Amino acid sequence: MTQAFPTSLCQRCVHVRRIESDRGSVFLQCGLARTDLRFKKYPPQPVHRCAGFREEARS
Ligand code: SF4
Repeated sequence: MTQAFPTSLCQRCVHVRRIESDRGSVFLQCGLARTDLRFKKYPPQPVHRCAGFREEARS
């Protein structure tokens, strides 16, 4: 899967889900939006500052 918006904080966040459409477009979905109204399900990209950001652990 190609990486959409590589500079976006969402790319490194534990809350993101990457959704790929049939046409190959990639959408970054914010998991926090399910429980917190401050967050949009599909935040406008790229995101550079976000109160909900939590860095994903790297292996
Ligand atoms: S919490 Fe913020 S940085 Fe994380 S996925 Fe949602 S919008 Fe992106």
